[in-house]
Amino acid sequence: MDKGPVTLKEKPVIGISACGFNAPVRYNGRSMDFIKAIGREKGDFRWCPVCPETAAGLGVPRDPIHLVGQDGRAIWKGEGKIVSRNGQDVTEVMLAAARESLATLRRAGAKVFIYMDGSPSCGVYRTTLRKQSRGKPPGVFGALLDDEGFFLVPALEMQSPLKWWDWRRRMLAYLWLQEVPLTTRGDLYEAWYRLKFLCQELDDPWAREQGRYLAALKGRLEPEVAEKFRREVGDVLRRPSTLKRITGSLWKNYSHHRKITGRPVPDIQDPTVLRNVTTIARELMIMEREATEEGILFGTAPVTLRKKRLDKDTVEDQSHDSSD
Ligand code: SF4
Repeated sequence: MDKGPVTLKEKPVIGISACGFNAPVRYNGRSMDFIKAIGREKGDFRWCPVCPETAAGLGVPRDPIHLVGQDGRAIWKGEGKIVSRNGQDVTEVMLAAARESLATLRRAGAKVFIYMDGSPSCGVYRTTLRKQSRGKPPGVFGALLDDEGFFLVPALEMQSPLKWWDWRRRMLAYLWLQEVPLTTRGDLYEAWYRLKFLCQELDDPWAREQGRYLAALKGRLEPEVAEKFRREVGDVLRRPSTLKRITGSLWKNYSHHRKITGRPVPDIQDPTVLRNVTTIARELMIMEREATEEGILFGTAPVTLRKKRLDKDTVEDQSHDSSD
C-alpha cells in the first residue's frame, strides 16, 4: 500500500460569489475582496466568479431582493417566491439564473463554491429572511449548490488564517476523494488510510465505526459500496473542526513525525501552550511543509497542492495577521 502524502496535480477550480471577488455587483454597487486575505495562495487556484442576481438581469444598482417562504430550498419546490423591495416578483428569472450559474461552474470544473453569507441568493447558512433576520436557511443558489454536492465555504472565514487552513485542508481532501479511483478493496483501504486521521478528528465515533465496517468487507468491491464511501467521507470532510481538535491533531501528527525522522521540527508547540490562532496556523503550515518534504503523510492535512507552493515564503505569507 502506498502510504505517502497525496499531492493534487491540477490547480483546483473554485467558484465564488463574484461580489466577494471584488466585482462591484452587489445591489448597491459595492464589493468585497475576500481573496486578498489568503495572499499569494490566490495563485494556487483557478477562480470562477458568478453572480446569479446580475445573471438574472436585475442590474447594478438594483432593489435588494428577499425570500418569501421558508428558505431557498422551499422556493425550488414552488413553496414561496423571491421579490424585490419594490414588490416585483423575480422568482422565475432568479431560478433560471441560478441554473445558468450552476452550468457555468460545471463548465469550469468547479466542485467548490465560496459563498457570501447572508445572501438570499448565494447564502447557505444565514440567509436574511423577511421578519427573521438571522435564520439558518440557504438562499436559492446556495440550496441548489448544496443539493448538487458542492463543497461550500463561507467567504468570511477566509479572513481567519486558522479557519481558512481548516477549510482548505478539508477541501483538498474532498477534491482528491471525488477523483480517486475506487475499484478494488485495496483502493478503498488506501484512500481510507490517507483520510482516516482527519475523519477521526472531525467525527471520531463515525470514523471508528467506518474502520470496523471496512475491515469486515469481503470479496469483490461493489460499486455501490465504493460510492457510499465517497459520499459519506465527503460529508464528514465538509464539517469544520475546532481549535481544540486541531491543536490536538497537530501534536499527535508531530509526535508521529518526530518518531519517524528522529528529530524535532522547530516552532511546533505542545497543545497546552497558550498561543494565538495565527501562531497555530503557522505551525500547521510548517508541519505541512516538513511532512511534504520528507514524503511522510501528514494525516491532519493529507492532501496538498504541488510541493513548491509550501516554501518558506508561503508559510510566512499565509500566516497573515488576524484573530479568530
Ligand atoms: S451574494 Fe451572490 S447574487 Fe448577491 S451580489 Fe454577491 S454574487 Fe451576486
